[in-house]
Order: sequence, then structure tokens, then C-alpha cells
Amino acid sequence: MFATPTAEAAQELDARDNLAAFRQRFVIAEPDLIYLDGNSLGRLPQATAVLLDDLVRRQWGQRLIRGWNEGWIDLSARIGGKIAHLIGAQPDEVIVADSTSVNLFKLVVAALRANPKRHKLITDDLNFPSDLYILQGATKLAERPLRLHIVSSPDGVHAPMEELLAAIDDDTALVTLSHTTFKSGYLYDMTAVTQQAHRAGALVLWDLSHSVGAVPVELGKANVDLAVGCTYKHLHGGPGAPAFLYVRRDLQEKLANPISGWMGQQRMFDFGLEYDPAPGLRHFLTGTPPILSLAAIEPGVDLVLEAGMSAVRAKSVQQTEFLITLWQELLAPLGFHLNSPPNPERRGAHISLGHAEGWRINQALIQEMNVIPDFRYPDNLRLGLAPLYTSFAEIWTAVARLHAVIAEKRYEAYSVARQAVT
Ligand SMILES: *Cc1c(COP(=O)(O)O)cnc(C)c1O
Repeated sequence: MFATPTAEAAQELDARDNLAAFRQRFVIAEPDLIYLDGNSLGRLPQATAVLLDDLVRRQWGQRLIRGWNEGWIDLSARIGGKIAHLIGAQPDEVIVADSTSVNLFKLVVAALRANPKRHKLITDDLNFPSDLYILQGATKLAERPLRLHIVSSPDGVHAPMEELLAAIDDDTALVTLSHTTFKSGYLYDMTAVTQQAHRAGALVLWDLSHSVGAVPVELGKANVDLAVGCTYKHLHGGPGAPAFLYVRRDLQEKLANPISGWMGQQRMFDFGLEYDPAPGLRHFLTGTPPILSLAAIEPGVDLVLEAGMSAVRAKSVQQTEFLITLWQELLAPLGFHLNSPPNPERRGAHISLGHAEGWRINQALIQEMNVIPDFRYPDNLRLGLAPLYTSFAEIWTAVARLHAVIAEKRYEAYSVARQAVT
């Protein structure tokens, strides 16, 4: 065993961190607040605040409707093209629109219609609940009997890889999974699952919400069919920022958007009465894009592009390993379980720690220790480490404060009743 890392050791890691300067590119309103929830809502980039001011006062306030021809109308595709660089896709294979849930619905229905003779949809029980709800809704709408097969994780942490691969058969229309799972942070082997699905003639759809901006993704190399993802987590897009969708180029003309709207119409300003889908990916747009929140995505994406995904991933692995070492030394003896994969290759950028008193500990951290983690029912403290602004010193201090909450029994002052948003 090695000795517990000291506060000085954490500072030394920060001094050697070649991404450390990125922290100053974000608004840090309370320097003492340790924010470990960047995987739910990323921090505000400085450049976004400047951009939004210009967008509201000049672009909207002065340019008015002329703004549409001065960049707004192309924004969905242009920002999509930048996100494509982060996920190993071609620029014309990614577009920004709607929420992740809505994009998932559009692509799931499109995929089911493209594979009309098959009756099975496969996912796992580590998937994000909204994804499961969307699958349930899409299954009900289908014009044929469809079965949603939810493969169960053996331990709530790791994917049911063997059962999953075995479940994919020649009656499977679609396999859809979260690439990095929201609770444990398990990171799927994208290539292995995609290959198995393709061998069986099924399509694959990956939800990249917890991956994009946090782990390298190579959609092109893995020959992935479809993907969706969120922009307000590791892309720092802002609360409720629109999501993105990816359709591999050769599938774009074969798949139809079930929510056909005028933004996907070939010549939308002809106002023709018949829907005539635009070529390429644009027919996966539906209605008018929310320009204020769409434009706000770009500075955060630019920061990740500037840092580079391999540097981001290297620091992320180093940080989750650092946190796990501290957990082992200081928190495991106090009843915390590691609810994330110990193998860094199978792990994203957050760490889940389970504790029987998790919910009250979470409240004590927020109320009196100036640490914001998040909580996932029933007992899970989720610690999101954002490589562009989380420092090693913050990780060290957060663990010290977590230790104090237990050692000093501070959590006992809090209620077991739950709140609306956790
Ligand atoms: C955050 C997240 C979403 C978000 O969906 P919205 O429709 O944007 O609310 C979807 N899927 C996964 C896996 C997520 O982590």
C-alpha cells in the first residue's frame, strides 16, 4: 500500500497539470466552492457570457430578423460540425437540435421503420431512465409488435456485456445504450457492441451524453450508425442547451425523421403544402432552433477542442484514479463503497460512492462544507470531475470535507426527506 496522498501532493499535481490554465476560462464566482457536478451542468465559460451579451443586445436587439441571414440559420449545422470533431464523426454527420430525449425518439423511430421485419429492441438497466421512457413510448407507437429487452447489470456498476452480446440476434432491430452510464460511469466498449449488432444485422444507437467532452469517442472508426448526446454537461452549453444527433452519412437518406417539420423541408420558404425532406442531415431538424441557447454552446465546445480530447482524457483518468486512491485510504473505512468501475479503461469522468447515509451526507456537504456533488437514488454520491476546471487540490479537499462530515457525524442534523431536484 502507498501512503495517503497529502494536500501538498495534490498541489504538486496541479503544478504539473498542462490543462490547469483552462480553469481561468470559466466563471468561478465562489473560489472556495468545490463544484463536482459539472457532469450535470457544466460551468459557465467566460466567453459564453460575452457572447450572450452580444447576442441579446446587438444580434437580437439591433439586427432583429436580419440575424437569421447573418448566421442564425446555419448555427445548428455549424456547431454540429464542431461537435463532430470531438466524437470522431464527419462535420456533415452531426447537427444540433431539440433535447437528447427528443432526438433519441426521432432516431429510434427512424431506425425501427428502417428495420421493419424485426421485433426486438435491446438496451440495459444502466441506461438513463429518460432513454428507457422514450424507448417505451416509441415501442407503443410502432405498427408491429415490438419487444423491449432490458438486459440487467450484474452489480449495478458494470455492464452485462456477455448477456447483452448474447441477446443480440437476427430479430433485433436496434441496440441502444448509454456509452458512459449516468450512475456508475461505466464506459462501454463501443466497437465490440457495434460489431456484434452489425453481425446480426441490427442498427446501433449510442447516447453520448456523459461521454462527449469527457472521453474520446470514435464514431467513424467504430462504424456507428446513430448517436445522440447532451451539450450542457461536459460541453458547458448551459442549462437546457439543445442536444445533438449523429446519423452516419450513408444512412441519412435512408432514414426518415418522424417529426417532420419545416426546418427539415427542402425549400422551406416556398411554403409548399407537401413535406419534401431536405437532403443530408437537415431533415432531422423539426422546428425553429432556440438561437439563444444554441449559440451559447459554441464557446464551451471551442474550449474542449482547444484542450484536445486526448489531453482531457489523460487528466480525467489521472483525476479519477487520484480520487479512488483517496477513497480507499480515507473513505472506505467509513462505510463508502466504490460504485464505479475500478478499471480506468471502463470508466468515464465521474465517480460514484455509495453510503447508507448518502442522502444526508449529500445535504451536509452542500449546506455546510461548500461542496456540490450530486445524489442518485438510493445511496449514491456522484462526484463529477471536469478536467477543464476541477483541480487536484479540490478533489483532495472535497474528500477531507467528506471525511469530516462522517467523522463528526454532521449529516445527522439533516432530514431523510428528498427534494425535487437532486
Ligand atoms: C443528461 C442525459 C440526457 C438528457 O436528456 P434531455 O432530454 O436533454 O433532458 C439523456 N440521456 C443521458 C444518458 C443523459 O445522461
